[in-house]
Amino acid sequence: MADKKQNNKKRKNMNIDEDYNPKFRKVRKKVCPMCGDKNFVLDYKNAEQLKKFINDKGKILPRRATGACAKHQREITLAVKRARHIAILPYVQN
Ligand SMILES: [Zn+2]
Repeated sequence: MADKKQNNKKRKNMNIDEDYNPKFRKVRKKVCPMCGDKNFVLDYKNAEQLKKFINDKGKILPRRATGACAKHQREITLAVKRARHIAILPYVQN
């Protein structure tokens, strides 16, 4: 009985690992939206463009979500903050 329980535990752990690993394998390396597209010009007056970089609460998305490189993430952050200041984007939603 004890052996069976141990085996089940081991299998459960294996399954968790098997669930995790394929997920990571499927995720392709994100290319920075601005490095990938040379015609992409970030504009703090363009609310539609900046909405892609904020979540439904109005918070600026982290780099792991936007896929932007460090340089461009800083520009995104600055643009969103400027847009908030001129009331194009909300500081908070709900
Ligand atoms: Zn970039």
